[in-house]
Amino acid sequence: MSDRLDLITQLEQKNALRARLDARVRQESADEPAAAADPVALKEMDEDLERLRHQISALDVEIATEYGASAADLSAWWGQEEGHSGPDHLVLGGYDRLPASLADGLDVRLAWPVGQVRWGADGVELLPEVTTTGAPPAREPFDAVVVSVPLGVLQAGRPGFLPALPAGHRGAIERLGMGLLDKLWVRFDVPVRDGGEIVLSRLAPEGTPYIEWYDTFPLTGEPVLLALVGGRTALRMAALPDDAVLPLALDSLDAILAANG
Ligand SMILES: Cc1cc2nc3c(=O)[nH]c(=O)nc-3n(C[C@H](O)[C@H](O)[C@H](O)COP(=O)(O)OP(=O)(O)OC[C@H]3O[C@@H](n4cnc5c(N)ncnc54)[C@H](O)[C@@H]3O)c2cc1C
Repeated sequence: MSDRLDLITQLEQKNALRARLDARVRQESADEPAAAADPVALKEMDEDLERLRHQISALDVEIATEYGASAADLSAWWGQEEGHSGPDHLVLGGYDRLPASLADGLDVRLAWPVGQVRWGADGVELLPEVTTTGAPPAREPFDAVVVSVPLGVLQAGRPGFLPALPAGHRGAIERLGMGLLDKLWVRFDVPVRDGGEIVLSRLAPEGTPYIEWYDTFPLTGEPVLLALVGGRTALRMAALPDDAVLPLALDSLDAILAANG
């Protein structure tokens, strides 16, 4: 309960900060014509507005890379749910080490796509998808199953359920959306920094892609950097061909390195 209250307080604080910044931008934009006669004041105001816009954009980037969706596309209630507490971790040696260790001692069937889940008071039966590659394996009976296929797969109607899922489940599957948080890994010939910093970032105008980078060199000894991009900016990048994305990312990294000296 106290975790939930903490989250709600954090959400309110973030929302209040964003609203204050928005209000200041609106207020100072409205005052601008009066200051036009004073070029020094106007210049200061322009710089102040630029800083405010960068702060808002930094908050938007933080939200987009944290939740995989732009602030404008998130539910103010559930969209801010962290889900867990504690710091972030980097899994050295590849993420496949996680499921491999969890699967130790379990009977794992790979390449066994489920076509239909038949469920009822007596238990659950899983029917395989019929493939053209050979005879499907026999049906499997279980006391209960946990269906954890991605939302998009459920939205595509796979696997099917017999009887159909309750209306509440079906409504949630239909209405929920998936976010997008893309990662770009770049290997360099030599380390780009020797200061030991892991996070490299800068304030930049809204929509600037790849302004959050992680240098793995201090952790792995490899000159490999990871850039994050989330939400609407990520959707825009995903529509570009790879050879258009890399120069944008490297330009952004150059600007970060220049800004950080
Ligand atoms: C490029 C990338 C980088 C990421 N980096 C991070 C990160 O750094 N940190 C982090 O915390 N998260 C990260 N994530 C997110 C994380 O990987 C996902 O949130 C997580 O894997 C989701 O787990 P899941 O079990 O819900 O779904 P999935 O891992 O997608 O597992 C669903 C499984 O269902 C199976 N399946 C689908 N249909 C059927 C069917 N009909 N029958 C049987 N099986 C079926 C699929 O084959 C798949 O194995 C990343 C994701 C991506 C794509």
